[in-house]
Amino acid sequence: MVKLSAGNEVLAYCGKCKLKLAHTIVVMKTDEIPDKVKCNTCKSTHAFKENATRRRAVASKGKAAFFAPLILILPSSEAPPIIRNEPI
Ligand SMILES: [Zn+2]
Repeated sequence: MVKLSAGNEVLAYCGKCKLKLAHTIVVMKTDEIPDKVKCNTCKSTHAFKENATRRRAVASKGKAAFFAPLILILPSSEAPPIIRNEPI
């Protein structure tokens, strides 16, 4: 588990933006839980919303990992064209 500290960025729910966005930690409550965070988008400082959340942050990382293999499955656009030598 990564320890957080003031100045680090976390994903938190911003009540003004109504979105989960990157925030900079202003004050820590414990080693792992921010107390106050500053929205990197609207620059407002507010209490860290638990709703926000490191659980969801982990889930979204899991999602990225889920989609990563699909990128590998995509056919290469540099695949050589198939040339057929058909008699006319
Ligand atoms: Zn905001």
